Amino acid sequence: MRRRSKASSKRARPQEAKTRKGRAAPTMRRRSSADQADEVEIEDRREAERAVRESEYKLRQIIDTVPGIVWATGPDGENTYANRRLLDYIGAQYEDFKNHGWQRFVHPDDLPETLKAFHHAIETGTSYEAVHRVRRSDGEFRWHRDRGEPLRDREGRIIQWYGLSIDVDEAKKAEDRLRRSEAYLAEAQRLSHSGVAAYNETAIVFGSEETYRIWGFDPPQGVPSREAVFQRIHPDDRDRLNAEVQRAVSEKRDYSAAYRIVLPDGTIKHLETIGRPAFSASGELVEIVTTQIDVTERKRAEQALMLGEAYLAETQKLTHTGSWAWDARSQKVLYCSEEMFRIFGLDPQEDLPTRKSFRQRVHPEDRNKVDESFARVVNERVDSFDEYRVVLPDGTVKHVYSSGHPILDANGELIEFVGTATDVTERKIAEEALRESEAKFRDYAETASDWLWETDPDYKFTLLTENAFGSDPAQRIGTVCWDHALDLETEPDKWRLVWATLDSHKPFRDFVYCTLGGSGAPMYVKASGKPVFDADGEFRGYRGTGTDVTAIIRAEASLRAAEAEARESEQRYQKAQLELAHANRVATMGQLTSSIAHEVSQPITAAVTYALAARRWLSAEPPNFHEVDDALSLIVREGNRAGDVIGRIRALIKKAPARKDVVEINDAILEVIALTHTEAANNSVSVRTLLAEGLPRVHGDRVQLQQVLLNLIINAIEAMHDIGEKERDLLISSRNEPDGVSVEVRDSGPGFAAADLDRVFAAFYTTKPGGLGLGLSICRSIIEAHNGKLWASPNVPRGAVFRFTVPAH
Ligand code: ADP
Repeated sequence: MRRRSKASSKRARPQEAKTRKGRAAPTMRRRSSADQADEVEIEDRREAERAVRESEYKLRQIIDTVPGIVWATGPDGENTYANRRLLDYIGAQYEDFKNHGWQRFVHPDDLPETLKAFHHAIETGTSYEAVHRVRRSDGEFRWHRDRGEPLRDREGRIIQWYGLSIDVDEAKKAEDRLRRSEAYLAEAQRLSHSGVAAYNETAIVFGSEETYRIWGFDPPQGVPSREAVFQRIHPDDRDRLNAEVQRAVSEKRDYSAAYRIVLPDGTIKHLETIGRPAFSASGELVEIVTTQIDVTERKRAEQALMLGEAYLAETQKLTHTGSWAWDARSQKVLYCSEEMFRIFGLDPQEDLPTRKSFRQRVHPEDRNKVDESFARVVNERVDSFDEYRVVLPDGTVKHVYSSGHPILDANGELIEFVGTATDVTERKIAEEALRESEAKFRDYAETASDWLWETDPDYKFTLLTENAFGSDPAQRIGTVCWDHALDLETEPDKWRLVWATLDSHKPFRDFVYCTLGGSGAPMYVKASGKPVFDADGEFRGYRGTGTDVTAIIRAEASLRAAEAEARESEQRYQKAQLELAHANRVATMGQLTSSIAHEVSQPITAAVTYALAARRWLSAEPPNFHEVDDALSLIVREGNRAGDVIGRIRALIKKAPARKDVVEINDAILEVIALTHTEAANNSVSVRTLLAEGLPRVHGDRVQLQQVLLNLIINAIEAMHDIGEKERDLLISSRNEPDGVSVEVRDSGPGFAAADLDRVFAAFYTTKPGGLGLGLSICRSIIEAHNGKLWASPNVPRGAVFRFTVPAH
């Protein structure tokens, strides 16, 4: 006891003091009657004291021998006594125990509580009680129940505290065990959502906390009535549950049932109950002991599981993936999902398939591979990945990708193998098609003279195939095509157009430009490309093809040069032809010189005659001016006639480039006849014309067309020159044709053999001694230049017919 008040220290150890006083020698006094009386009194007192000592001694003997630990303290709590049993128990001397020594024998964990209770008792004068562990002499701490009560004098003052400490170790431990096992039980019930309850005909006699919780009652509120519980049972389940219990009671057997309860807030709980009726020795029903198990969550989990399984089956169906499990110990298939059955063409309605039934479905060529692989992974306990074919009974071949995973126990022994099999047939087919098309395109790309290119969004090359730009395509990666172009300055417009196309992300085709080839020589490239966009529509660059078109461009250039040359020689040829035609005209006119002279001289002669006549009329007396005037008019007419003849001759002789006139063909014919009629007359040829009216006009060179007519007429006159006395007829006719006009010159000369029909048009073919043989060839060229045709045919009964057609204007 740490605290010690002044008052209590003055009153310290009353019993001890008393004991010492008791042992001290009696005080000596003088003897008298009073003394005698005193002696008697003294004797009495001694006697009394001895009796007290005796009784004290006996008491101590008793206290020391009671089967309990006894102690005493003063009113202040200061220890004044410990019985022998106490000291023996703790194995110590009183010296070690007194003052505060006793505290060392109380378990340190329990001391604070003990001190608290003890001080409280001292201060309030109420009973003291503590349960604490005390160290026994053998060192073992044992539980004690320590109690103290105050002893008071007549005035009620506390003069002493007496205490008794009892070893309650066994009981305390048993109690703890019981409490713990009860706690465990409650915990177990709470965890397993199961409770225990017992009831008889009238009431519920026992219910564990968990039972009340399950039924939805508040455990601290105590046992609910049977009626209250009954009301919680789902109305649909009440009769069934009652009947089940009644049957079990009458048949004296256990029962189990499932039922629902409805909580006040409407929540429904699913319960399972097992009950056992208990009977007395006389066979009377004592009570029914039941367990209540809340299976709501399990029910919910079961439903979720069922739903989960449905989802799994659906997922497996969608992904064509089946799953399986194989038990290593029994060497049997433990589980096989529906999709697994389907993939292997097995019937899901039948029992679990064996490994053998799976194996039979594996393609014979793949079986060994699958067996070896399975044996290896089982042996090595590793994950497996396999690909093989499955043949269904109808011969369909499927491609399956399978994976397996070993499940090992704590010792690393194989317990199970679980895995999946995925039907990858469609993917295989798609892959095969893709591979084929890739190979095809690779072949195209490798064999084509074109090359492939790709650029980034800045048009820089990111890919060029081997043959790009002739050689060394790698050097161009990261550059743009115009970095190497050679025609940027010479053809800026072309490039501007290309840049505009690129910047608007449009495709382009056959863009030709000149660039520095891989070999260092200029080359022409034809490129086509299209923009590439990613899934988000973001522009990613261009890709396309390029071709070396240098040879084509060069060939085109030389073709153009050749064409220009041809055009030039054509022009030269045309010029030569014109000149030839002119020469031919001049020559023909030369043949007509005498006729022409005659033609010109005739009007002149006439004019001279009229002039002489006029002169005569002038010299007459009186001069006849009227006649003179007539003569002068005639002179003018004849002069004009001569002028016309000369004009026509000049036109034919003039050297002029080909013209495109609108020609009245009949007029042209008549003019030529006029030029040649003297020649015809000189040769005794009678000239007739048969000209169609309303002919369409033709488009062409009037002089050239007249040259043709002139040639044909002169040839005809010449041909008829040697036919003696026979009729010399020349018929010139014109006719309307569906697509233009035709003109025919028909004579009655000797004509020519059928074999010569075409030969006559050959250049330099002539049967005439002084002939050049060019006339008809020139005529044909002229008509063909007018998009017409000229040909010859025999006349009946004799002679030749030359006919040409020219299209209408
Ligand atoms: P050339 O008059 O200088 O011989 P042409 O080309 O005009 O040249 O005529 C070629 C040949 O065609 C003549 O030499 C002649 O043999 C034959 N020929 C042309 N016209 C007639 C005709 N009307 N009748 C018979 N033969 C003709």
